[in-house]
Amino acid sequence: MQISFTKNPNPGKMPPEDKLGFGSVFSDHMFVMDYTDEKKWHNARIVPYGPIEINPAASVLHYANEVFEGMKAYRWADDSIHLFRPMENAKRINISAERIGLPEIPTDIFVEAVREVVKVDKDWVPHSEGTSLYIRPFLFSLDPELALHGIHEAKFMIILSPSASYFAEGIKPVKIMLETEDVRAVRGGTGYTKCGGNYAASNRAGDRAMAKGYSQVLWLDGVHRKYIEEVGAMNVMFKIDGKVVTPSLENGSILGGITRKSCLEVLRSWGVPAEERLLSVDELIGAAESGKLEEAFGTGTAAVISPIGELFYNNKKYTVNGFKIGPVAQRLYDELTGIQWGKKPDPFGWTECV
Ligand SMILES: *Cc1c(COP(=O)(O)O)cnc(C)c1O
Repeated sequence: MQISFTKNPNPGKMPPEDKLGFGSVFSDHMFVMDYTDEKKWHNARIVPYGPIEINPAASVLHYANEVFEGMKAYRWADDSIHLFRPMENAKRINISAERIGLPEIPTDIFVEAVREVVKVDKDWVPHSEGTSLYIRPFLFSLDPELALHGIHEAKFMIILSPSASYFAEGIKPVKIMLETEDVRAVRGGTGYTKCGGNYAASNRAGDRAMAKGYSQVLWLDGVHRKYIEEVGAMNVMFKIDGKVVTPSLENGSILGGITRKSCLEVLRSWGVPAEERLLSVDELIGAAESGKLEEAFGTGTAAVISPIGELFYNNKKYTVNGFKIGPVAQRLYDELTGIQWGKKPDPFGWTECV
């Protein structure tokens, strides 16, 4: 693929690495590529990071035709920069695009675009322990008309944000509230896609949980409001009576996380029993009450593993593992972050040098 390059004449400055947050500072360049039905994907370019102009009638602003990805670039001790399973993100953005009616992006072009823009801004990959360059690819429709005639014009962009270690002060368990009113997704809906609309539908419950001191909600299925689905922006795993259990993806209402998939593959390689199945809230709360709920944790690119120290359900609080990270969560965290930062062997071949 031909990618043109316009160098940023006013490069920015990386903030001090101990002042990095998440997703608020952006690197000097961004990747942009346009789509029309006639020309297909064209005009791939790396240009200075900055605002874009958009027609007020552009359909994304009215009908939320948008999908995105989240991934990271990691700096290793020898200063080489690595991606983690980028082809998985390439495949997933197309699964999301297909559901929303957006044009798909050839997977090799997606990965090449990520590599090239990361290479241009490699100085923005921070050096400190646990920091990374967060990569946000996104794809949206531009058709300038309010009538619904399908999507014929779109844009694909990649922006880059140097990010702090998620657990700068050590791994801290989070408090999670089971959501019993709003639902995030239903069978046949868009729950399995990474689309902006899913997040719009989640805002209210998230805001309410936050107001009560909980960091995110744990969603129940939209039909029976009975089965555990996932946490706000993470998949969820529990260790119940010696086995790791995570909700299965069959229903189509849960995002197939790459961290989830990697955890399951690692657990199985260790011989730790790991089940993907329906898990009802009654079973979960029953396990918490009988002492069989040994661990609970979220999985996602941002935090990798986020231990859950407290569950709140029907006005009752359930503390998990004494509000401490459990041994399986810790071992998974060490293994995945060890592979990602090149500190441990990568037996699965998951990392790729850019
Ligand atoms: C991105 C995301 C996840 C985690 O996926 P990873 O590929 O592991 O980062 C889980 N749930 C939702 C809703 C998400 O958007």
